[in-house]
Amino acid sequence: MNLTGVYVLYAIIRMLKFSFISFLIFVLSAVVFSKSHPVIRTEIKDENGRKVEYMYIDGIKVHETDPKKQPFPPVVSPKPHDAHVAKPPEGAIVLFDGTPEKVKNWTSRNGQPTKWKLINGALESVRGCGPLLSKKEFGSCNLHVEFATPNEVQGEGQGRGNSGVFLMGLYEVQILDSYNNTTYPDGQCGALYGRAKPLVNACRPPGEWQSYDITFDRPRFNKKGKVTRKAKFHVIHNGHVIHDNLEITGGTGWRGHHAVSAYKKHGDKGPIKFQDHGNPVRFRNIWIVAIND
Ligand code: MG
Repeated sequence: MNLTGVYVLYAIIRMLKFSFISFLIFVLSAVVFSKSHPVIRTEIKDENGRKVEYMYIDGIKVHETDPKKQPFPPVVSPKPHDAHVAKPPEGAIVLFDGTPEKVKNWTSRNGQPTKWKLINGALESVRGCGPLLSKKEFGSCNLHVEFATPNEVQGEGQGRGNSGVFLMGLYEVQILDSYNNTTYPDGQCGALYGRAKPLVNACRPPGEWQSYDITFDRPRFNKKGKVTRKAKFHVIHNGHVIHDNLEITGGTGWRGHHAVSAYKKHGDKGPIKFQDHGNPVRFRNIWIVAIND
């Protein structure tokens, strides 16, 4: 509600000879209402005899492909690699530095050693081998990750260079080859999958090393399982801010073509997870600073 709205309400109240207290209650209600955005709406549609879930965030359909309704983020030039920013700061845990020793920091989903390949100091996902998970678990943190989508361009849309960085094993910052490759903006490289598109498209060409610097504030839940503080992301992709202290409205798990998961109560920590989406995406120089909160 804007100032004009508040003034109109006040005028109405005066006409009705309500007290100043009533006016105050109206204003407070307006403030509370305005903070309840973004609005999530879901609906179930019957499509060819199947129930299909649709989700809308502030009126925009999840995975909307119509640029009139969900415009593409502007393409910007990635900033040069910053060796200082890429260096683990004091107090950081180096999760991977290209050596076989650090591969031991990682595991597959079943707890067995990962089958991802160590090639020239990078860990490369292997189709069908499942995700790569850190053995250590983290909640809120600062995470630096470098990644490269395949040199050889294959597929299109979500099928080109797809992987992802999952905080607490749950909340995905999408990895995709979004260099001259369009898909739904809330699923392109840098998207908080299904929840928020990146502010800009700062992708480098296929095969080139790129960086994410992610500050993650974990969500909190009460005893009943209701989220009391939403997860917050500040993400820098190749030197550009692509999410500016953004609270996400729920989870990022795939629930269908137009819906993602809601918040579901979990613990205070979880693994860092990289997705095997069938494309050989490489990772290197991964470090983390845990934030104890
Ligand atoms: Mg992905």
